[in-house]
Amino acid sequence: MQLLNTLMAHAMPWIPRSLIQKISRRYIAGDNLDDAVACVRQLNILGFDVTIDVLGESASNLQQAADTACEYMRVLTAIQEQGLKASVSVKPTALGLLLDMQHCEQHMEQIVVFAGHHQISVCMDMEDVACTQKEIELFARLSVRYSKLSLALQAYLLRTYQDIEALVQNRSSMRICKGIYLEERSQLVDGAWHDRSAINPHFLAHVARCFDTGTFVAIATHDCALIAQVLELVRSRDIGTDAFEFQMLLGVCEPLRDKLLGMGFSVRIYVPYGKDWYGYSIRRIKENPQIAGHILRSLIRS
Ligand SMILES: Cc1cc2nc3c(=O)[nH]c(=O)nc-3n(C[C@H](O)[C@H](O)[C@H](O)COP(=O)(O)OP(=O)(O)OC[C@H]3O[C@@H](n4cnc5c(N)ncnc54)[C@H](O)[C@@H]3O)c2cc1C
Repeated sequence: MQLLNTLMAHAMPWIPRSLIQKISRRYIAGDNLDDAVACVRQLNILGFDVTIDVLGESASNLQQAADTACEYMRVLTAIQEQGLKASVSVKPTALGLLLDMQHCEQHMEQIVVFAGHHQISVCMDMEDVACTQKEIELFARLSVRYSKLSLALQAYLLRTYQDIEALVQNRSSMRICKGIYLEERSQLVDGAWHDRSAINPHFLAHVARCFDTGTFVAIATHDCALIAQVLELVRSRDIGTDAFEFQMLLGVCEPLRDKLLGMGFSVRIYVPYGKDWYGYSIRRIKENPQIAGHILRSLIRS
């Protein structure tokens, strides 16, 4: 089965887009803001917090970046007007980080100012290593002025041990995730290029660093062995439930997220929506251990 999954992962570019779209429905709220709002409402009723992501990878021109910023303002307005328990997650490249840093910073600032005014949190997603330093510097400039901003860090990167220090010094909230991009071996912690569980001790070390320094941390993983280790850390250090939250992606490991919520922990669901669904869907489908089964079932049904 493992071999079949690997083959399916490599075959992804040849699988029809319509089929990818069908499989990925569970991971995406829908095409538009109304779909996202409906999804957030359902999750809020169940007791989950949410972070909303407007789908889209790197902007290819400044107009596209401005359009994305506009869409985020619509999202923030909906959260505020409809009283949703939701924050937003933003990819700086979608706001033009790689085109024009000044423009990107203006868009980001507009979002953070509006969000802060309405007590809505904003998390900057972390992207591939071509962006890491730029995103850390952008965050550093904005977070001194706006406290509702947090940053994602990737435990698979060696450099995160240095990067986290500046954040904990300033008590900046952060999200720790394993990391999703294909990076060169030299950038990664030992074993991470072929074994996702090799990232776990590093992930745990970063969470512990946040606990030690009283820095709020979002623990973004579906890895149940890792979550068990985090819970052990919480118990052994008597960490309060307001010091952290778990975060999971929409449609992934739902029984695990329900269990954590039932145990009394805060759980935030990452809810993406938008027309630009392809890149995000491919990443999620490749991460699914039952990838082959899903594709084969969808092929049979179509
Ligand atoms: C809220 C949130 C925000 C994120 N933000 C970022 C970010 O800013 N930058 C970044 O680089 N990455 C981000 N990620 C992605 C993250 O880095 C991982 O790629 C992703 O979460 C999978 O890693 P994992 O920790 O779940 O562990 P893995 O070891 O990859 O997976 C553990 C187990 O989870 C289950 N699982 C994982 N994914 C799926 C799936 N799609 N379908 C079904 N089962 C699955 C499987 O059982 C798997 O064995 C984010 C993830 C989350 C949850």
